[in-house]
Amino acid sequence: KQYADKHKLVEPIPINAQYKINPSLNQALVSKVSMFVGDITTLEVDVITNAANSSLLGGGGVDGAIHRAAGPALKLECQSLHGCETGNAKITGGYKLPAKYVIHTVGPQGEKPNLLSNCYRNSLGIMKEFGFKTIAFPCISTGIYGYPLIPAAHIAAFEVRNHLEKFLDVVERVIFCLFSEEDEKVYQGILQTYFPLH
Ligand code: ADP
Repeated sequence: KQYADKHKLVEPIPINAQYKINPSLNQALVSKVSMFVGDITTLEVDVITNAANSSLLGGGGVDGAIHRAAGPALKLECQSLHGCETGNAKITGGYKLPAKYVIHTVGPQGEKPNLLSNCYRNSLGIMKEFGFKTIAFPCISTGIYGYPLIPAAHIAAFEVRNHLEKFLDVVERVIFCLFSEEDEKVYQGILQTYFPLH
């Protein structure tokens, strides 16, 4: 599978104080988290997450890329969903995408931590509900919606860590899909805090 060849595993670092817990649990968690730098529409996973707007009718950035790659049938299905509130998430098919499904979540405009947390939690909740094993996330809200990247990355990593601690057995891989070297640098540092390994 494409993601298995292209993703990079997070570099392991010593366990820090924040997550000084069962080292074998840490190891298992780290082994399920990856970064991928590039276009999320190329990833062959069970589900990719879209940073949508509340209309769910398509927009710029990653949303535009996903709609272009999936084809017009995605927009037709989205029209039947009657929008989505900020922090919530709704699922559609993936159509022409290599991903089987798309979870559309609406991030906050500006730095609103609870709403951004909800995006990750609700998306991961759908993943769990549908029994998906692999998921990819873009950096929700950090483009057009202007959420500063560093605090946004802390929320993304924290929520994924929390979810994996609960549902480790049913998740195979969570991919943070980054779109620039700058994003990659930030995530490299922050993921090491939330997914440490000795
Ligand atoms: P938002 O409105 O939630 O900020 P954007 O799409 O503007 O959404 O940006 C979210 C993130 O997605 C940004 O980091 C942007 O660089 C990134 N991005 C844009 N296009 C793609 C793509 N094709 N694949 C993955 N990430 C992308």
